[in-house]
Amino acid sequence: MAKTVAIIGAGCSGLTAIKCCLDEGLSPTCFEKSEDIGGLWRYTAGHFLCNHLQEIVEEKRASLYNSVITNTSKEMMCYSDFPTPEDFPTYLHNSKVLEYLRLYAAHFRLLQYIQFKTEVCLVSKTPDFSKTGQWEVTTECSGVKKKECFDAVLICNGHHVEPYLPLESFPGICDFKGRYIHSRFYKKYEDYRGKTVMVVGVGNSAGDIAVEISGVAKQVYVSTREGTWVLSRIFHKGLPLDMSLQTRCHFWIMNSLPAGLLHKLNAKQMNSWFDHDNYGLRPKDTSWLKEPMVNDHLPGQILCGAIRMKPHIRRFSESSVMFEDGSRVDGLDDVIFATGYTVFFPFLDESIVTVNDNNVTLYKNVFPLHHEKPTMAFIGLVQPLGSLLAASELQVRWAARIFKGAAQLPPVAKMFAHFQSTTERRIKCFGRGRNQTLQSYFIDYMDEVAVEIGVRPNIMRLLVTDPKLAVQVFFGPSTPYQYRLTGPGKWSGARKAILTQWSRTINPARTRVVQRPKDSGSVMRHIFVLCGLTTAILIGFYCVKWETLRPSGPRF
Ligand code: NAP
Repeated sequence: MAKTVAIIGAGCSGLTAIKCCLDEGLSPTCFEKSEDIGGLWRYTAGHFLCNHLQEIVEEKRASLYNSVITNTSKEMMCYSDFPTPEDFPTYLHNSKVLEYLRLYAAHFRLLQYIQFKTEVCLVSKTPDFSKTGQWEVTTECSGVKKKECFDAVLICNGHHVEPYLPLESFPGICDFKGRYIHSRFYKKYEDYRGKTVMVVGVGNSAGDIAVEISGVAKQVYVSTREGTWVLSRIFHKGLPLDMSLQTRCHFWIMNSLPAGLLHKLNAKQMNSWFDHDNYGLRPKDTSWLKEPMVNDHLPGQILCGAIRMKPHIRRFSESSVMFEDGSRVDGLDDVIFATGYTVFFPFLDESIVTVNDNNVTLYKNVFPLHHEKPTMAFIGLVQPLGSLLAASELQVRWAARIFKGAAQLPPVAKMFAHFQSTTERRIKCFGRGRNQTLQSYFIDYMDEVAVEIGVRPNIMRLLVTDPKLAVQVFFGPSTPYQYRLTGPGKWSGARKAILTQWSRTINPARTRVVQRPKDSGSVMRHIFVLCGLTTAILIGFYCVKWETLRPSGPRF
């Protein structure tokens, strides 16, 4: 009989979890608290309540603001055997991501495995766990509680649900008479028309919200402790940032450089759009590559004066805020704390997983180290400086093979040593901050998991068997299809998907067909080719003529 797997959450990780379990012959049941799929990517409107930290958006579910657009391009963020439709734009509005998830669920007939409006209240080990590795899952649906036993559990509930709001770090906030909220509760910019607003933090939420509000507010300030690099979605020649930079070739070169040179080049690259010093944004420590902000409009809004960058906050008072550099802003109406999230599993007790200031001890961000049996996996608990959706899918492919018994985990000591060495490397690369605990390089992380499944692309072999593809895999964007070329879960469409990824990227923007003007360069090229051809014909003609005219006789 097929092994049973409980999947918690029907967001982008949960959906692919169902599909990958089915691929491996497992029997999945997915529990979704809300009435629909999509998780974080399903926008719902909320209500504004001031100075309130209680749930005003859907409880225990990630909450988006309406304007969220992906910061990874559609080719990089799709599932590895299901390219985003060609007519979808390169960067997707959240409603388009949801549409894509619906297409995926429909194509692979996943909805039948989901129990909606069913909350998982508790996951605990069965009494004979050390022998069977089975889990008892307690759920609640319409007030009715139910306990079921499963062979394995996939935790796919996401880590952007529980807001991190350290009010104790902001002296005087209790005296502040204006409104303040965490960015989780931000929904619409209209609430800030004509107001003086302070956004705290420089993550992607802070950037998006500050830019959006700055269109209608009297003045927006953004306070940062550390600063950040800001990148545009659009890279050289208008190509998507991630498709241009997330290549194996680029990653290989960067990895081979000495750290000092790498940091210099990195700073040069980051400053190529605008000088971060002039905009008050440069990160304090440029030797760490914290997740950069991806925002196409922030520098423009700073240049127009609609947003003003400020250092860390010293204290609030009734209607003002003072900063560490001694400056102050009076007449402050609103504060939005875009201070990030806390990793939280309300249905697991500490003996199953311990979260310490966002640190979770997991082998390759997936398997707890101390369980007697490898029957629980955490999916999407990683921040890979690239597509989370693609990383989640690969994690779940690996977990499904472990559950099935088709792959094994190394001994605990080896996993622990790996955890320690990757933690050290992470701190060296990204720093110690609580929002860097899950960070890793995209290709690095993907390959690490792919090795476990046996699906890491082998460039040397490809070079011999399929040079055209090898060139695309090495020099082109490291799209998820690369992990479907060989090994378990091989997809026959992967090669074609890789060779056509650029046309799917560029075509959606070509909504007005334009004739390229014939530039003088191409005219010169034609003249050059014509001259070359004429010369070749003349030489040929001359040689033939010489052969026929030449008197026959012995050749010397
Ligand atoms: P985040 O990336 O964790 O950023 C939190 C920010 O809050 C950081 O700038 C941090 O500053 C600051 N902060 C934390 N504690 C603070 C304190 N005590 N005092 C002052 N500042 C403090 O959170 P997020 O922006 O909400 O993003 C969460 C995730 O969602 C990220 O992975 C992000 O990329 C993603 N996201 C994506 C999009 C998109 O695709 N368009 C939009 C929004 C969010 P320090 O750096 O100084 O610690």
